[in-house]
Amino acid sequence: MDIDKLVRPNILRLKPYSCARDEFKGEAKAFLDANENAYMHPYNRYPDPLNMDLKEVIAGLYGGVARRIFLGVGSDECIDMVYRVFCRPGVDNVVAIDPTYGMYSVCASINDVEYRSVPLNDDFSIDEERLLASTDVNTKALWVCSPNNPTGNSFSFDELRPLLERFDGLVVVDEAYGDFNTVESMIGRIDDYPNLIVLRTFSKAWGHAAIRLGMAFASEPIVDLFNKVKYPYNINILTRRRALEVLADADKVKALADEVIAVRERLASRLRQHRLIKSVYPSQANFLLVKVDDADALYGYLSNCGVVVRNRHRVNLCDNCLRITVGTPKENDLLLSALDSYDGN
Ligand SMILES: *Cc1c(COP(=O)(O)O)cnc(C)c1O
Repeated sequence: MDIDKLVRPNILRLKPYSCARDEFKGEAKAFLDANENAYMHPYNRYPDPLNMDLKEVIAGLYGGVARRIFLGVGSDECIDMVYRVFCRPGVDNVVAIDPTYGMYSVCASINDVEYRSVPLNDDFSIDEERLLASTDVNTKALWVCSPNNPTGNSFSFDELRPLLERFDGLVVVDEAYGDFNTVESMIGRIDDYPNLIVLRTFSKAWGHAAIRLGMAFASEPIVDLFNKVKYPYNINILTRRRALEVLADADKVKALADEVIAVRERLASRLRQHRLIKSVYPSQANFLLVKVDDADALYGYLSNCGVVVRNRHRVNLCDNCLRITVGTPKENDLLLSALDSYDGN
């Protein structure tokens, strides 16, 4: 697939911002190029625009190679980048599974790109034919989230392969919850599919939503385009440093993710036995989607108890559903005892 054919013409033509330090080769003795304050070391200097060393560490952990990784201010920047690089405002469109993460549609609106929702099947599996039938010559990307927010299920390579092979555009697989997943990551498929973009984040299993760091794994033409369009210094030095620190603790983070999975399964079984819970959907993520009789009423009640969950009642296929993040054992106990005290029905 020729990625250039998918790119907005103005982006193909774009000559990116270039700084003197990109052009300079050799050992600098004095930095007199960027109008920085010479004194307040080290925060006075603009940060590294590409962070190749940080990407090397990430590549070592997730597989792949550093030059096929883009770093964004959260995955949210990576999501926005798909629109800014590929979708002509007012002309192009994208197709997404429904229900799914809300930012795909918000970024589409911001970029004036038509957003086409295609419902999942009742069992939350992908309706391939319907997804593909919703595409046309101006469809630039298909959005798939796996494990999916808010349904919690994930899609295997076999389910995604027909999309990658039959759709003449980008397939973005958002694996924000991939660190909790037992299904094989799509990162390993980047080399086989030049139209595949896989998103990951430090916000969930890594426990670092506050530092705003997201990753896009993709073929080099895509990563090069993203780097050309992003703000030159998007990843700040504090984020970079903290990311290197937490990456050095990867074993601890992995153990913590396993612990969250164990706690999730205990919480799921206690919820399944609860009189108020009609069903608990299987989850490959750090949250549980549960069906109740009256989601609005229970949501309001829990809020009054100080227990904040996500009401998904108005979301397609999620009638009377609440999405509950797996908390600490203490937080989960608070949820369960609040449910025990409910006398709404
Ligand atoms: C939470 C979440 C993200 C995270 O976005 P960041 O900008 O990296 O914090 C991305 N995708 C999905 C589906 C999510 O649920």
